[in-house]
Amino acid sequence: MWPKCLAEARWPVPLAPYDRPNPISIAMVASIPDSANPEQAPEAGLHPEEKPSPVALVTGASRGIGRAIALELGRCGATVVVNYSSSPEAAESVVAEITAAGGRAWSVQADVADEEQAEAMVKSVLEREARLDVLVNNAGITRDGLLMRMKTHDWRQVLDLNLTGVFLCTRAVSRSMLKARHGRIINITSVVALMGNPGQANYSAAKAGVIGLTRSSAAEFASRGITVNAVAPGFIDTAMTRDLNQEPILAAIPLGRMGQPEEVAGAVRFLAFDPAAAYITGQVLQVDGGMVMR
Ligand code: NAP
Repeated sequence: MWPKCLAEARWPVPLAPYDRPNPISIAMVASIPDSANPEQAPEAGLHPEEKPSPVALVTGASRGIGRAIALELGRCGATVVVNYSSSPEAAESVVAEITAAGGRAWSVQADVADEEQAEAMVKSVLEREARLDVLVNNAGITRDGLLMRMKTHDWRQVLDLNLTGVFLCTRAVSRSMLKARHGRIINITSVVALMGNPGQANYSAAKAGVIGLTRSSAAEFASRGITVNAVAPGFIDTAMTRDLNQEPILAAIPLGRMGQPEEVAGAVRFLAFDPAAAYITGQVLQVDGGMVMR
């Protein structure tokens, strides 16, 4: 039997008829064959409990926020593909935790900043699962330093993974999602994209780029029932923030504490599976304890 959160989601969420389609996005996706209208899909008419579970690919899911997202989507009944770059044991422990709780998961190694590896990863998911319903672009790194002294290598490495990696994975899943006429893409950005941060010119530029990419792809894909949203965490308690001087950070957070990875995962679960999220696209959902109020 499906866990409550997915049973209620009636996945895939039926497409609402749209009366004023965006002519640009319609033209751009017109060449993609429309072979999987949910009304005509093989699983249409099946009892909800007989429908195949949605498949979610989470990049950088071996640790931190990605790990919490993978566990949360697994708890909801999704088959979770756990991507990692250099930590096979950590990724396997995420898989083990999901399967021990009665879910289904497997791991895939890929550097998502590498075009060939990102494409091969998505291909392997489609070959093994024959569907891909949710993509969470979570993998990210920091290489902090003042702009004046920032090495070009550190600039490029952060842009390559945090921005180009999101583009590569989104492009790799787009064809199958457009064909299927449904999909949820959730990009993990950051509040520093909105406010800037000394020492993080590379990171905040990449994360701001992710917001632009989110909005453009949301506009392109909307006519095929695919939503694209971003989640912007504030300071979350993971390896990425553990070495920071926490005192000034806490002083800038109205709720007075760091966030937990599970709190970001809850926002992702909402955008991925809650029926109410079917009408939300191109948005940035901040999970930051009130740090940036606009
Ligand atoms: P983290 O604990 O350092 O984990 C990073 C994850 O990314 C790991 O699973 C790592 O896998 C993976 N990864 C690194 N390079 C990769 C690559 N080339 N290809 C595929 N995966 C790769 O980071 P986190 O704090 O959970 O951050 C997750 C996301 O949230 C990032 O996009 C980050 O920018 C964003 N974010 C974090 C915070 C925060 O306060 N923590 C705030 C705002 C936004 P391996 O272990 O295999 O290397």
